[in-house]
Amino acid sequence: MANYVSVDHLKFLLKNVHNIDEVLSLPRFEDYDSDSIDMLLDAAKQYADQELYPYFTEMDRQGAKFEDGKITCHPQIERVMKLSGENGYICSHFDYEEGGSQMPHMASIASGFINTAANNTAVGYPGLTAGAAGLIRSFASKELFDTYVPKMLSGEWGGTMALTEPQAGSSLSDIVTSAKDNGDGTYNIEGQKIFISAGEHDCAENIIHLTLARIEGAPAGTKGISLFVVPKYRLTDDGMEPNDVTCAGEFEKMGQRGYVTTHLVFGDKQDCKGYLVGEANRGLKYMFQMMNGARLEVGLTAAAIASAAYHASLQYAKERPQGRKLDGSGGKNINAPQTLIINHPDVRRMLMLQKAVVEGCASLLVMCGKYLDLSHYADSTEEKAKYHDLLELLTPIAKTYPSEMGQVAISNGMQVLGGYGFTTDFPLEQHYRDVRITALYEGTTGIQSLDLLGRKALMKNGAVIMSLMTEIQKDLEAASSYDELRPYVKIMSEKLGLTQKVLGHLTQFAMKGDFERFLADATIFMEFTSTVIIAWQWIKMATAAKQAIVTNKMVKTEDFYEAQVHTMKFYFKYELTKTTSLAEILLSDEVLTIVKEDKVVEAFA
Ligand SMILES: Cc1cc2nc3c(=O)[nH]c(=O)nc-3n(C[C@H](O)[C@H](O)[C@H](O)COP(=O)(O)OP(=O)(O)OC[C@H]3O[C@@H](n4cnc5c(N)ncnc54)[C@H](O)[C@@H]3O)c2cc1C
Repeated sequence: MANYVSVDHLKFLLKNVHNIDEVLSLPRFEDYDSDSIDMLLDAAKQYADQELYPYFTEMDRQGAKFEDGKITCHPQIERVMKLSGENGYICSHFDYEEGGSQMPHMASIASGFINTAANNTAVGYPGLTAGAAGLIRSFASKELFDTYVPKMLSGEWGGTMALTEPQAGSSLSDIVTSAKDNGDGTYNIEGQKIFISAGEHDCAENIIHLTLARIEGAPAGTKGISLFVVPKYRLTDDGMEPNDVTCAGEFEKMGQRGYVTTHLVFGDKQDCKGYLVGEANRGLKYMFQMMNGARLEVGLTAAAIASAAYHASLQYAKERPQGRKLDGSGGKNINAPQTLIINHPDVRRMLMLQKAVVEGCASLLVMCGKYLDLSHYADSTEEKAKYHDLLELLTPIAKTYPSEMGQVAISNGMQVLGGYGFTTDFPLEQHYRDVRITALYEGTTGIQSLDLLGRKALMKNGAVIMSLMTEIQKDLEAASSYDELRPYVKIMSEKLGLTQKVLGHLTQFAMKGDFERFLADATIFMEFTSTVIIAWQWIKMATAAKQAIVTNKMVKTEDFYEAQVHTMKFYFKYELTKTTSLAEILLSDEVLTIVKEDKVVEAFA
C-alpha cells in the first residue's frame, strides 16, 4: 500500500503541538481521550487504505458521465457516501441527541486530512453533505431539520451549496435567482446555478441544494439574498416526486474529474419548490457559516493532496539511482556506483520544501480546528469570542496558503520524478491537476486576500491582529527556553515587527479613503502574512519536538523529532526570507496596476 500521509505527524500535532487535552477536558468532549483519538486516526487510515486510496486514479480516468440530464459517477462514490454515514464522518460534529458523535473539530480535521490525502475526489460528496446539513441545523426550522438532516447524516441523501450564477461568481451581490412566495410555506424558485459541486449524481437517493435566491421585492445587493432548501425530489404523502431541478450539463475539468461540477436549472417548468431557511434576506450571512467551514476544507484538501504528492516523490527518491555524489565517493568516476537521487542536495531541497509546506499547513489547519472547538465550547464567553475572532482572521490564510503553496510543493514533487513525473504511470500529474482548483473555488486567492487585508486585518480596530500577535509571542517565549531555537525566535520577532510596519503603511491609504491603493497588492500581503504564519507553526512544532526530546517523552524515534527542528530551520532559510522582498513590494511607493479614470496607461498595448 502506497504511503500518502504521515499519521504519526498528525498525532504529534494533536498531542504535542496543539495540546488536544485542553479541548478534551471540556464537558462536551468528555467521552473522548487521547487514546480514543489515536484509535480514530488509525481507523481513518485503515478506511482510507481500503475504501478510498485504491480508487483514486480510477475516479480520475473514468470520470463522470452526463447523459439526458443524469450523471453517472464511479460506483465507489455511492459506497463512500453510505460508509461516511455509517462510520459517523458526516455527523461527527452533531450532538448525540441529533444522531451525531460530538467529535472535536481538531480530531475530525486530522482524520479528514488522512481521507483526503487518499482520495480528494471521493470525500467531496460526504463533505458537502455535512456542510449543508450543518447549515440546516444552525438556521432552519425544526421541521426542515427533521425532514432532511437525518437522511443526510446517514449518507442516503447528498447536499450541495448552490451560490454561483453565470454573472455572479466572486460577486455574490449580483445573484438573480428568484423566489416567489406561494403563501403556503413554500417559494417558487427560478434561475440557474453554475459550477455546483455534486449537484447531480447517482450516488444518493436525493440531493438537497442549499440555494441562495432573491425573494421578489427584496433589496438589491447582499442585503436582499435569502437561503432556501431546494431538494432534487420533494416529499409527497406516498414518497418523493421530481422538484423541477434539472441538470443542464457537467463541466469537463482538468482535475478532480470524478467530483462532478454541474450546471443546474431551477424551475424550468415553474414547479420548483424551495423552503426558506431562517429569516428572509439573511441568507448570505447564514451561508457564511458553510463557506467558512468550506474554506478550511479547501485548505485541507490542498494540503492533503500535497501530502500525497510529497510521500510519492519521497518514495521515488529513495529508490531511483541516478548520477554520482560530488563528495569524493563518486563524482566524475564513472566506475563508482550511481547514488540514489535522495542523496543529491537539490533533490533533498525539493523534498524538504514539500515537507515544510505540507506539515506547516497541517499544523495551521489543526490549530484552526482547535480554535473552532474553543469558539463554540470554551468555558467563558470571552474565550469563545477570542477564538471566534482569531479563527475569522486566520480562515483566509488557512484556505489560501495551502492552495497556493500546495501547487508549488507538488510541482517540486513532480520535478523529483524527472520525466516520469509528467507521465500517467505515476500519481504526481494527477495531484498537480487536482490541486489547481483549490486556489479558485470557495473564493479565489484574490478574493481571500481582499478579505484578509480589507476586513480581517482591521477587525475591531486592529484588536484581533494584536490578539494574534500575543498568541505568537507566547509561543516565542516557550521556544526561547531552548538554546538551539533562540536565533529563530529572534528572526521571528523581527518578522512580526516587519508585519506591523507593512500593515501600518498600507492602513494609511485606507484612512485617507484610498481603498483601491490600500487593496491593490492584497494578494502580495496575503503571501507575506501567510509565510509568517507558517513560520509561527514551525516554531511551535520545533518547540514541541525539543520538549519531547528533552523530557524524554518520545513515542517515535529521536530522528522524527530532530527532523521537525531541521525542517523549521529549512523553512526559515528558504521560505521565510522571501518576506523581505515581499515587504519591499508592499512598502514601495510606485503604483503600476491601478487604472486612473483621468490617465489610463494602456499597459497592455
Ligand atoms: C470545479 C469547481 C467547483 C465549484 N463548486 C462550487 C459549488 O459547489 N458551489 C458554488 O456555488 N460555486 C462553486 N464553484 C464556483 C466558484 O466558487 C467560482 O468559480 C469562484 O468563486 C470564482 O468565480 P468566477 O469563476 O465567476 O470568477 P470571477 O469572479 O469572474 O473572477 C475572475 C478573476 O477576477 C478576480 N476578481 C473578481 N472580482 C474581483 C474583485 N472585486 N477584486 C479583485 N479581483 C477580482 C478573481 O480573483 C479572479 O482572479 C465552483 C467552481 C469550480 C471551477
